[in-house]
Amino acid sequence: MNLKLTKQRQQILDLIQASDGHMTADEIHTALKDQGKSIGIATIYRNLNVLYAEKLINRVRHPELGYIYDKNTHDHYHFRCQSCNRIFDVEIPYRDELHAIVEKELHCLVISHDMSFEGICESCLEEKKKKKSD
Ligand SMILES: [Zn+2]
Ligand SMILES: [Zn+2]
Repeated sequence: MNLKLTKQRQQILDLIQASDGHMTADEIHTALKDQGKSIGIATIYRNLNVLYAEKLINRVRHPELGYIYDKNTHDHYHFRCQSCNRIFDVEIPYRDELHAIVEKELHCLVISHDMSFEGICESCLEEKKKKKSD
């Protein structure tokens, strides 16, 4: 299938790929506006859904911010900092072997799984240390 990206869709994809990986639709909206490209938020959501369906981007559920869009399209895990709310990729091997374990237990077919870690990120930990020593 020949996927023809519209200009707006390509602009959104370029922005996500140039980012450090994880952006909300609001952040994409603001960043495009800063570049002088005014695209309505509804159009952004629609394009993000298409990009996700075409597997050109990934998305992660954030408990407070909704979906976060991710340029990293291979299977991977995430870490969320409870202090700054940022999401980081966790590049540990994807545990495919868990699928067989779950399939055996539930007699089901597992297609994918997701794992996310919660805690305090490195820079927030350092910030806390600094505050303590002040
Ligand atoms: Zn943090
Ligand atoms: Zn990611």
